Amino acid sequence: MTSLKAVRGTRDLLPPETELWNRVEATARRVFARYNFGEIRTPIFEDTSLFARGVGEETDIVSKEMYTWEDRARAQSEKSQSLTLRPENTAGVVRAYIEHKLGDTGLLQKLYYIGPQFRRERPQKGRYRQFWQIGAEVIGPPSAGSESPLRDAEVLEMLASFLDELGITGWTLVLNSVGSASDRPKYVAALREALAPVKGRMSPDNQRRAETNPLRVLDSKDPADEAIIATLPKIADYLDDESKAHFAAVCAALDACGVKYGINPRLVRGLDYYTRTTFEFTVGGLSPQRAGAPGTPILGAQNALLGGGRYDGLSEMLGGPKAPGIGFAMGLDRLILTLQAQAEGAPEKSAPVLADAFLAPLGAALDAPALSLARHLRRQGLRIELGDGAFRLKKSFEIANKLARNIILLGEDEHASGILTVKNFATGEQTKIPRDQLAQALQPPE
Ligand code: AMP
Repeated sequence: MTSLKAVRGTRDLLPPETELWNRVEATARRVFARYNFGEIRTPIFEDTSLFARGVGEETDIVSKEMYTWEDRARAQSEKSQSLTLRPENTAGVVRAYIEHKLGDTGLLQKLYYIGPQFRRERPQKGRYRQFWQIGAEVIGPPSAGSESPLRDAEVLEMLASFLDELGITGWTLVLNSVGSASDRPKYVAALREALAPVKGRMSPDNQRRAETNPLRVLDSKDPADEAIIATLPKIADYLDDESKAHFAAVCAALDACGVKYGINPRLVRGLDYYTRTTFEFTVGGLSPQRAGAPGTPILGAQNALLGGGRYDGLSEMLGGPKAPGIGFAMGLDRLILTLQAQAEGAPEKSAPVLADAFLAPLGAALDAPALSLARHLRRQGLRIELGDGAFRLKKSFEIANKLARNIILLGEDEHASGILTVKNFATGEQTKIPRDQLAQALQPPE
């Protein structure tokens, strides 16, 4: 029988790597709390039309990458329905905002999420079919100040602080403004006109986009089309005064707090809902060299750590009230790859976490008392690996030496007297410790 494996583009996350995942998630929760964000958890699957309407039919995500299925009705009272595993989370958050009438509070909603997303992309380093995003959204009625450029700058400053606190070095922020809903048609018309004489020389995908959604041509990653794309009109030349002033205010607020950025007039990002500010944080650099091989880029061909932007019309596109917003999504997988690569280059590598003690019952009759002692120690906050009375002493020592700082021996004598034998592997010292002093004695060094 062939053995079963995780599906292409998905993977298992195992300890000790999951420690790093938890650290990144905990840092996000801690930093976002300082900006007064609360957590939202939306379902992993939604009605397909949410993404078709929200993300845009012509985007790569919706046209090629979604996991969609027809969910059969189970009862007369149910209808069959087209469902989709979420490829991103902003549409779900905005749906929840509308559904729960969060706008009626009159306040800004500041919501963050952490969870898996699904896209049928071609798997490669840093790109998976199930991947994790940490994201946040600031959304609310215009009266709550949701359109203010200060919100954009605050989100960007929060991201810069998060990456710094996490210890990611060498990140770059690039910004652009893709204009408002009223700037967009003028620019799209200009793009269409500029594309008409040249599109015949572009890839089939871009030829199609040039017809259906010319803005998406700018997202193209097709190197053969780059030279043509470089000659296309820039959106900055089509912004109205309000959009220009908005963008200038975002930049001024970032300047004031010392967050460095660059401007990339081609940054439109792959989702239709963006208006005005769009941004990306990238990380360059190479993984450290191994045995004479050249260093490889930390994120392979993918250098975007995170991306986001403003989506002033999304709520209305989904049938909700006017609720401008700004948000971002970062690839948790890519944050981890970056941290791992940067740690490899650093002089000290983090040591694996050892248990405070391995508890070895010396014989099956001592298994139950050992569980009771382990319970006592764990309730004092200690990390305990519980052995098995069927193990020979030598085997217990061998395992304990790999997993723990100490071994506790629980034989008949120890059980009867309540005085345990403890050996510390670092010092080689063996001591007798009464049960009620054990937790104190096993505390990890500061
Ligand atoms: P997007 O939702 O496309 O704006 O992507 C936001 C961020 O999610 C990107 O900058 C990546 O870090 C991450 N991301 C998007 N797609 C993938 C994927 N297939 N695998 C891993 N990370 C991804």
